Amino acid sequence: MDILNALTVDVEDWYHVCAVGDYLPTEKWGEYENRVNKNSRKILDLLRKYDTRVTFFVLGYVAEKNPDLVRMFRDGGHEIATHGYLHQRLIDITPAEFEADLGRSLDAIGNAADCEIIGYRAPEWTVVRETAWAWDILIENGFKYDSSVVSLTMMGDRAFPRFPFVVRTGGGSIIEFPASTMRCLWEGFPYTGGLPLRMSPFWFTVEGMKKTNRMGYPSLVYMHPWEFDDDPPKTRLPLGRRFMHDYLIKSVPSKIEGLLERFRFGPIKEVLKAHLDSGRRRNDAT
Ligand SMILES: [Zn+2]
Repeated sequence: MDILNALTVDVEDWYHVCAVGDYLPTEKWGEYENRVNKNSRKILDLLRKYDTRVTFFVLGYVAEKNPDLVRMFRDGGHEIATHGYLHQRLIDITPAEFEADLGRSLDAIGNAADCEIIGYRAPEWTVVRETAWAWDILIENGFKYDSSVVSLTMMGDRAFPRFPFVVRTGGGSIIEFPASTMRCLWEGFPYTGGLPLRMSPFWFTVEGMKKTNRMGYPSLVYMHPWEFDDDPPKTRLPLGRRFMHDYLIKSVPSKIEGLLERFRFGPIKEVLKAHLDSGRRRNDAT
């Protein structure tokens, strides 16, 4: 049977952009239009059409404002995991701030819907060597997996493996599921989510995923509700950030649907179980 790949959604609204505090300050979030609810429902409709369950990494702030949405994810049989509370990059905060933000997100999601949370994803793939303390904190808090690494030079950390691996620390172990990248000579290319998915030709993403599956590994695809917005709000973000957020945004729904037509997908917890049961695992201790 075809390999089960991971399909994931980072549930955040259009104004949850990292490191642009002066443009979209946290104190003003309550004044901005709520669009995450409507856009997430489009994703749920698409998943229902393909009878596919996924992992929703819910931002605690979104769960607090939209508890009904979290219940819809749960009632649809999807996995619920956390994306933190305030969408802060780990490279910008201390371990104590991270633990507090994590706890706040668990409270917010738990208040919205009774569900077991075993997975975490950091904003902007910011578990790098300098923030590897996050794994200790996740282990202490009972998490079973993390999906916050991307093996690249420009973003994330090139030193980490490209495929799921086990992290062992003094406090225990946790499985890391990195964003999919493709190696070409000495550098990697991301192609399964965000700006890289939007910029990659569709055939490139399909071939990359097929190659990964032929090697015996699952791929990891990710999307955001704001990438399903028919009329995204205009922001005055700095050019680089605006490009990263908005460029080719309208290509996402059809690309995700094309992938749903071609590959088997499931939530991360099931993908990791199937992968580890298959006997192909890497024990890259840190
Ligand atoms: Zn995010």
